[in-house]
Parts: sequence; structure tokens; C-alpha cells
Amino acid sequence: MIIAIDGPAASGKGTLARRLARHFGLPHLDTGLLYRATARALIEADLPCGDVKAAVAAARSLALMDFDEQVLRGREMGEAASVVAAIPDVRATLIEAQRAFARRPEGAVLDGRDIGTVICPDATAKIFVTASPRVRAQRRALELAGRGEPVDFDGILADILRRDQRDSSRDVAPLRAAADAVTLDTSALDVEAAFRAALAIVERR
Ligand code: C5P
Repeated sequence: MIIAIDGPAASGKGTLARRLARHFGLPHLDTGLLYRATARALIEADLPCGDVKAAVAAARSLALMDFDEQVLRGREMGEAASVVAAIPDVRATLIEAQRAFARRPEGAVLDGRDIGTVICPDATAKIFVTASPRVRAQRRALELAGRGEPVDFDGILADILRRDQRDSSRDVAPLRAAADAVTLDTSALDVEAAFRAALAIVERR
């Protein structure tokens, strides 16, 4: 069984993907980390995120890198990740590793922007998770505060809107729901209610 979870930044898709993976005993891949780690390699080398050659080389060598989630989940990494994620050759470089993960015999849960549309078009269940921009900004603010990072609500909201715009308008694998995905709006749901709704979607499939 492959569960594909897509959605915009801070929609709650990562939390849902982790909960579903734990519930079904499946491995989980947060594909955003691949783009974040690619962006981090460029930032650390003092290179612009639009440097196609360097971005592709960084994406190719990801297996060698240590995924320090504490660093990768920082606010500026999300923004930088969305810049490298718009480079077609970076996406092409990262496709096979994601598909290989999904091909595990026991199945897998993957979350990202293009899992249901490009990476796993034949997934057993596809959920497109959304929430209003303000709710997503509030969640991101709480998450950053929990990690001791400074919180600037208006800046976070602006980041989210800019990232939505960039992720939805790029030419390759833009953020959008697959035709056979079920949309789950979590704006008015707490984590538990969102999990139950997601579980019901998967079980119906
Ligand atoms: O999901 P997360 O916020 O960690 O993703 C960071 C960025 O990586 C996104 O804004 C998006 O541009 C990119 N991404 C993507 N395709 C995926 C996962 C993430 O383009 N499957």
C-alpha cells in the first residue's frame, strides 16, 4: 500500500503522514527534506539557490549528507528549498530515490507536493491536505516558537503565500491535487480529528 500525501506549506501533511505511517507500520519519507537538504548544501557553499549546476550536483550527492532536521526545518530553508525545487534538473535527479522508497515491498507513506501527480501516480490512496493561509501561518509560528526561533507572524504569512505562489506556478510538477486525490481541509480540525479523517479516506480505498 502506498499512501501519497500532498499539500501546501504547513498544511499539516507531515504530521498526518507520520501518524498514518505509524498506524499502518509503514516507512515514511518526507520528500521536502530532499529539497531542503539540496538548498542547504548551496547555502553552506555560499552559492545562489538558482545555480542549476551546483543544485543538481548537491541533489546527486544527498545520500552522503547528514539530514539534520533541526537545521533543515528552519524558516529560510523552506524558502530556499522552493527555489531549488523549481529547477527541472533537480527534480529529475531526485525522482528515482523517491520512487525506489515507494517500491518497498511493505509499501510506504510519502508526503510532498507532487507525490500523487508525479512520483506515485498509482498510489493506493492520495490525500491533498489544505488549510487556510492564516491557519497555516499560526501553526508554523507555534512550531518555530517551540524550537525557540523568533516569531514574526506577518513575515511567516508572507513566506507561506510566496511559497504557495512559487510552488503552484512552476512549470515542472507544480503543487496541485491529483485528479483522484481526496482533498482534506484541516483548517478547523485539530491533529486528532485530522488524523481520523485521513484514516477514513485511506480505509475507504
Ligand atoms: O514540505 P516542505 O515545506 O518541507 O517543502 C519545502 C519545499 O520543497 C516546498 O516549498 C517545495 O517547493 C519543495 N517540495 C517540492 N516537492 C516535494 C516536496 C517539497 O517541490 N515533493
